[in-house]
Amino acid sequence: MVIFRGFSASGISRTRSMDSRPTIETETLRFLLDFARSEGLSAHWDAGRNVVFSLPEHERAKHYILVGSHVDSVPRGGNYDGLAGVLAGLMCLVKARRGGEPLAQPVKVIAMRGEESAWFGPCYIGSKALLGVLSEKELGVRHKEDNSTLDAHMEAVGIDMTSVRASRPLLDRKAVAAYLEVHIEQGPVLIERNLPVAVVSGVRGNFRYKKISCFGEAGHSGAVPLAYRHDPVLAMAELLNSLDVAWHDFASKGRDLVVTSGMVSTDRAKHALSRIPDSVEFSLDVRSQDDEMLQNMHDLVLRHAERIERERNVRFDFGDVLWTKPALCHRQLIAELTRSAEALGLEPAIVASGGGHDAAVFSQAGIPTGMVFIRNRNGSHNPHEAMEIGDFEIATSVLYEFLITLQKSGANKQRKPVPC
Ligand SMILES: [Zn+2]
Repeated sequence: MVIFRGFSASGISRTRSMDSRPTIETETLRFLLDFARSEGLSAHWDAGRNVVFSLPEHERAKHYILVGSHVDSVPRGGNYDGLAGVLAGLMCLVKARRGGEPLAQPVKVIAMRGEESAWFGPCYIGSKALLGVLSEKELGVRHKEDNSTLDAHMEAVGIDMTSVRASRPLLDRKAVAAYLEVHIEQGPVLIERNLPVAVVSGVRGNFRYKKISCFGEAGHSGAVPLAYRHDPVLAMAELLNSLDVAWHDFASKGRDLVVTSGMVSTDRAKHALSRIPDSVEFSLDVRSQDDEMLQNMHDLVLRHAERIERERNVRFDFGDVLWTKPALCHRQLIAELTRSAEALGLEPAIVASGGGHDAAVFSQAGIPTGMVFIRNRNGSHNPHEAMEIGDFEIATSVLYEFLITLQKSGANKQRKPVPC
C-alpha cells in the first residue's frame, strides 16, 4: 500500500492545547487542513473548532463512520500520541481519493483539540464538547499560566459555547454509525509480543487516590522494639503488598487489572535515616476494564486498611477518590477490525488500553467504538515515543481494509455497545 509510505509526523511538534493565542494546536490543524485540500479532500472547521475531513462526495453525508484522534500533546510529549491516528484516517481518505478501492460507506475523519490535560487539568475537552458532556466545573477550571477559564479560552478560539454550556452536543450523534481511533500503544505489550498492531478491547476505568496519608508514631530507629512500633511506612507497604498479592491472584485467573502507587514520600522536613516516621503519603491508581473488578479492589483496599489500622495501631486518611468508568469497545467492531487484520495476513491480537483516549468519550455516549493500537517503543508522553513508520502503514492498512469492507459484513448495524 504505497500511498501510506514516506509520510512522517516527525516534522510537527506540539505542546499547547485549547489555548486562545495562536497555538501549535491550531497551527497543526491548519497544516492538516491545507494538506487535505491539496489532496482534493473536503476539509472544514466544525462547531468545536476541530477540523473534519472527507471525500468531497461525502461532505454532506447523513450517516457516516467517524475516524479520529487528537492533535494536542503534553509538555515534552512525543510526535505520535494522537496525531498518528488523525493521519491514519487522513491517509485512508487520500488513498480513496487517489483511486484506491472505494470506501464502503461515507467516512469522516476528525482532528480534535484538547484531549490531554496539559493546560487545564480535565482531559478529553474536545470530544466532550462535541458530545455535550463537558461539565460546568470543567469549563470553570483555569489555565495554568494565564489563569483565565477554559470557557473563555474555548470561546476565544471560536467554539460554539452557547451549546457547550447548555450540554448540547456539537455533533449529531445519530449520524455517527461508529467511531474508530488508531493510536500508538502507550505501554510495552506490542513490543514484548512482537506485534505491529493490535485491536483494542476497551479503555480501562480506574479509581484514584491522589494522596493517602498514613499516621503512626515517630521514634528512634535503634531504640524502639517491635512491640512498641507504629510505623506508617510498614503499614503502607503491607497495604500495597496485600493489593499486589490480590493482583497476582486476579491476573492468574485472566482478570484485567493494574495497580500503581506512583508517589510515595515521608515528610522531607522531618525524615531521617534513623527516625521511625510519624506519617507517610502515597497515591493509589487502580485500573481495569471490568467495573466489578474495580469495585472489588476498592472494597479490598478499605478492608485491608481497616485490618492494618487495628493490627499496627496506625490511621489511614484516604482523602478524595476519583472514579472513571471503563469504556468498552464494540464487540462487533473488534471482530471486524480483527478480521481486517487477518485479511492482511497479520496475527490477530486484542489488548486492553491502559491510557485514556477520546474513544472512551464516544463509547460512553453510546456510539459503537473501535480502536487499533500501533506498536510504539519507549512509552508515551515523552519525546522518545518511537513508532516505526512501517507499523503506522500496517495500522493504516488495517483501517482502510475495515473501511472498504465494513458494509458487506453489516457490522455497523448493531449500535448498542456490548461488553467484550
Ligand atoms: Zn493520545
